[in-house]
Amino acid sequence: MNFRETLKINEKGHLSIGGADCVDLVREFGSPLYVYDEAHIRNMMRIYRETIEEEYGGNGLVLYASKAFSCEAMYAIAKSERIGADVVSGGELYTAMQAGFPAKDICMHGNNKLPQEISYALDCGVGLIVVDAYSEADRIEAEAEKRGAIQDVLIRINPGVEAHTHAYVQTATPDSKFGFPIAGGEAEKIAAYVLTKKHLRLLGYHCHIGSQIFEKQSFVLAAEKCLKFAADVKKTLNFAPHVLNFGGGFGVWYTDADEKIPVEGYRTYLSALISAVKKACAEYHLELPRLLIEPGRSIVAEAGITLYTVGAIKEIPGIRKYIAIDGGMFENPRFCLYRSKYTAMLANRATEPCTERVSLAGKCCESGDLIGDDFNLPAARLGDIVAVLTTGAYNYSMASNYNRNLIPPAVLVHEGKAEYIVRPQTYEDLVRADVIPARLK
Ligand SMILES: *Cc1c(COP(=O)(O)O)cnc(C)c1O
Repeated sequence: MNFRETLKINEKGHLSIGGADCVDLVREFGSPLYVYDEAHIRNMMRIYRETIEEEYGGNGLVLYASKAFSCEAMYAIAKSERIGADVVSGGELYTAMQAGFPAKDICMHGNNKLPQEISYALDCGVGLIVVDAYSEADRIEAEAEKRGAIQDVLIRINPGVEAHTHAYVQTATPDSKFGFPIAGGEAEKIAAYVLTKKHLRLLGYHCHIGSQIFEKQSFVLAAEKCLKFAADVKKTLNFAPHVLNFGGGFGVWYTDADEKIPVEGYRTYLSALISAVKKACAEYHLELPRLLIEPGRSIVAEAGITLYTVGAIKEIPGIRKYIAIDGGMFENPRFCLYRSKYTAMLANRATEPCTERVSLAGKCCESGDLIGDDFNLPAARLGDIVAVLTTGAYNYSMASNYNRNLIPPAVLVHEGKAEYIVRPQTYEDLVRADVIPARLK
């Protein structure tokens, strides 16, 4: 049933992921449960790495954008697939370090890196920091000077390409909290500033044009604009980039409104980018820079599903039917945040035809707490197991303890066997940081 081997329907009529029966998974680990197929994660990491090796002479590095799903096991997998990681906070960096991830292969982002995050990044020896503010350049300089070190940095630039799923918008005056616009000369000004810093080594530029993008031309256009900028700066400041980082953003399948791209198909996104870089470098007489990309969603989204148990069913006659599951916005806030669409199945009745259109309601005290409002399912019964697909990215990483619900555990399936990569929370975890001041006792 699945074009990439991750999801199948087994002989019992149950959904399976990576060879593990979803009904057995819930029996063993309970629900809600995040489940990841290790093979798919590795295949995605490999396709990007191999494309850089085969089409760009290996002169680059794939950085897993760990904000999509950050836990120690993910960094361990990335390390074993010989790719790097990007982090956007001290917490993600700490998680990577705990997993024994090589700091030199880490690129640090953030539009407001805290003083202690910058200091921690330098202590760890992070390979690259992407500068996104003047004050930050000053702070990294000061921290590097204190250590008698020189920190490699990129500058985050905004090429004025705003990418959407199937379209892009070119904006003359980009309005974003991220990056320095090329238009108007802001990007060049910060480059000139960073070049005056003795303890910063400017290696090049970074841009990230958006997320869930299917249109290859968006990446091509961004590359063209960045290289045109690089050529201009070479003329004015005599600085040519050694590194260009084009961020992530490659789209994934959530519903049949999205393209279904086989693993091998992601090669073409990188190929288009590589061709554009080669062409522009030839045109502007620039040396080919080291190429970095930062895919997050496309590596983990389709590798993951979430399993739930149906606990209550409510029909509002003539209006809608609510199937209430044991999760909700505390473990998947994306519908509440972005009206994101998903596909769901009954994992224990995976061969039955869909006969109903229903809303999947969470258990939080918010009327808006839904996983979605237009799922096609067979008529659900109490105790059925609902699988929501493509939940591997930005679900666990956005989870909270809202209503003091426990954040579900995550398991990783390898050759049909599942193991915890994130253990279940307990009620003790919830009160661990709580304090009652003496005067309240
Ligand atoms: C979010 C983000 C990414 C990853 O984007 P995906 O859409 O998950 O591939 C990469 N780089 C930066 C700077 C980001 O903010």
